[in-house]
Amino acid sequence: MSYNNRLDSSFMFVKQARSLAGKRRLKDLLLQKDNQFCADCNAPDPKWASANIGVFLCLKCCGVHRSLGSHISKVLSVTLDEWSDEELDAMMEVGGNSSANSIYEAYLPQGFTKPGPDASHEQRTKFIRSKYERQEFLKSSLRIVSGTGNNVRSNVSQVGTVNSLRSTSDSQNTEGKLGTLKVKVIKGTDLAIRDMLTSDPYVILKLGQQTVQTTVVKSNLNPVWNEELMLSVPRQFGLLNLNVFDYDMFSADDIMGEADIDLQPLISSAISFGDASMFDDMQIGKWLKSHNNALIDDSIVNIVDGKIKQEMTIKLQNVESGELDLELEWLPLAK
Ligand SMILES: [Zn+2]
Repeated sequence: MSYNNRLDSSFMFVKQARSLAGKRRLKDLLLQKDNQFCADCNAPDPKWASANIGVFLCLKCCGVHRSLGSHISKVLSVTLDEWSDEELDAMMEVGGNSSANSIYEAYLPQGFTKPGPDASHEQRTKFIRSKYERQEFLKSSLRIVSGTGNNVRSNVSQVGTVNSLRSTSDSQNTEGKLGTLKVKVIKGTDLAIRDMLTSDPYVILKLGQQTVQTTVVKSNLNPVWNEELMLSVPRQFGLLNLNVFDYDMFSADDIMGEADIDLQPLISSAISFGDASMFDDMQIGKWLKSHNNALIDDSIVNIVDGKIKQEMTIKLQNVESGELDLELEWLPLAK
């Protein structure tokens, strides 16, 4: 093999290795729970993506995105296309479907039904145009109507700011702390029976290495706690994990259900608004109910008296019954 040939082949090797690493990053992102369903119609197992918007899509929605033109949505196949580093980075920065939807669908009108996997081409087109081209469901201050082209991207970078905060490990700012989460555990309803006729429930919350818990309510399947628990939120935060246990004096406590709570909608909207005390009461974001999360209904992020709050009712998972009412509040770092 001549010197030049060897150089060529090692160059090819580097190129291939890089493209493999890129494929793996993309695959990891696709494995995230929220990315296993189309961002627009919830069809399972999306194999397409809009690289500039940062969402994963099914084949049918992908077709509609393509018809909008690549200045609005740049469609690529997850498996078939070669992705540039720039396209990969943009995708990673947004962080996936629930993050993008928490901005693009923040203002879906009350009672609005998104198209489902079996929606007609017309229903799909109408929704996708409203969502991305006219940005009708976006908070108005994020909407840039003048747009010849890059309007969508500027909103992605709004979402992106949050995610790059989340993914960078730079710890110059208060050891990488983003803020504080206050969780008010309000009440439980119709909890599972673990001792003969009743249970002695308490709630444990976990975020990363931190664990906090409520007191035990004796013999009650509809306990009222109204207890506030505080958690420090790092720049790299994951899901808030919630467990309900039955206190047992004589043996190990029994599990009475669990749930994972996505903090991204609350924190994304809190950060894009900054100082909430400057705003009147209004809705600023939404965590959407879906068949792969524990929400009983869409959970709205609101500014209330200058505070950023999100109420939710959770259906406990892996248990025969039980719901839990919570209120989250976001406390930004003091300036
Ligand atoms: Zn779809």
